[in-house]
Amino acid sequence: MISSRPYDVIVVGLGAMGSATLYHLAERGVRVLGLDRNAAGHNLGSSHGDSRIIREMYFEHPLYVPLVQRAHELWRALEKRTGTPLMTINGGLMIGRRDGAVVRGTLRSATEHGLHCEILDPAETHARYPAFSLADDLVAVLDPRAGYLDPEACVRAHLDSAREAGASTHFDERVVAWKADGGGVRVTTEAGTYAADRLLLASGSWTAELLGNFALPLTVERQAVFWLQPETDTGLFDPARFPIYAYEYEPGSICYGFPRLARGVKASVMHGGETTPDLASVRRTVYESEVRPLRAALRPILPGLSRAPVRESGTCVFTNTPDHDFIIDSHPLHPQVLISSPCSGHGFKFASAIGELQADLLTRGESAFDLAPFRIDRWRGDLA
Ligand SMILES: Cc1cc2nc3c(=O)[nH]c(=O)nc-3n(C[C@H](O)[C@H](O)[C@H](O)COP(=O)(O)OP(=O)(O)OC[C@H]3O[C@@H](n4cnc5c(N)ncnc54)[C@H](O)[C@@H]3O)c2cc1C
Repeated sequence: MISSRPYDVIVVGLGAMGSATLYHLAERGVRVLGLDRNAAGHNLGSSHGDSRIIREMYFEHPLYVPLVQRAHELWRALEKRTGTPLMTINGGLMIGRRDGAVVRGTLRSATEHGLHCEILDPAETHARYPAFSLADDLVAVLDPRAGYLDPEACVRAHLDSAREAGASTHFDERVVAWKADGGGVRVTTEAGTYAADRLLLASGSWTAELLGNFALPLTVERQAVFWLQPETDTGLFDPARFPIYAYEYEPGSICYGFPRLARGVKASVMHGGETTPDLASVRRTVYESEVRPLRAALRPILPGLSRAPVRESGTCVFTNTPDHDFIIDSHPLHPQVLISSPCSGHGFKFASAIGELQADLLTRGESAFDLAPFRIDRWRGDLA
């Protein structure tokens, strides 16, 4: 079937990044079609589950701070538009040794962007947040504008708003191929062929499949997450008394977690998971023994939680770049095709702002943000 009315843009992948871009395009009156191989709300990619951290004093690099500040504004605007609560700001503790990358990086971002933060010693941390008992050599930097998002509600809000604004969406329809066609693109799915002027590939851990011979240095990494059930819980883990946290328990190794939500007190070790060539080979079962590294990591900051029984566990996947910075760039051979892989385990918080800037790139060919750190050619010479 050849679509009679060509689209301006086709978006492949309606997870965090594709759904946000679809919304910002439709809001501008762009004729846009969104395609996803899985059902809406599926749990096979990277955007499912009950929580994602948002934080402002970005220890990875200060370049991310303006992007998360814009994301903050846009999540609030989307809440207003849909009447759906999406983001809870209850504070965040960036924990580690003073000379560690997490504490130093957090303070650098706070200083460079003039953000007010407090450095709490173990006694101050415990006084304010009684569930935490930090070991003596640790400090906690308080990020008052940190908190968490409801990822599934965020994706739904973007999709519903995009459709209200005129976007078309097809789920359970896999894109099997695309090709550049006279300055535009032709996209073939299991159900038909569509034509558009521009194409966004926001296909998460499946991206390599859609790039054919043009290989990007992306790896798929399995992550196990755990919802713990503290035995004695006198409200110590409630959002008002328990901030999100990221803790550098060894140089470069981080665990992170959330207050108590419906499924329990979620925590996980970041990275260190099995990497696989593709999604199909991701192990989805979680063995009991897999919680041990998390328990060991949590002990110096949350001794009570580190002993709590596991109420639930699950898996999810990171799509990693070698430097853990994002990819937002045009295909080097086809400028009408935009490749979006903003993950490496920390992309969700930015999705609202990345949706906006990708809509700018797809309609105006430029963005207000400096995207040089996200360019593909930073691996010049390494790409096939
Ligand atoms: C365990 C875990 C914890 C995380 N914690 C945080 C956090 O606290 N804070 C944070 O900011 N980020 C976090 N992240 C990262 C964040 O969730 C991801 O960066 C983000 O969800 C990536 O979204 P995406 O749209 O790129 O990918 P996805 O949501 O995976 O979307 C890709 C979509 O493309 C579709 N697709 C793929 N191939 C095709 C095809 N051929 N045809 C049609 N459709 C196709 C898929 O069905 C899928 O829906 C975490 C990730 C994980 C896994």
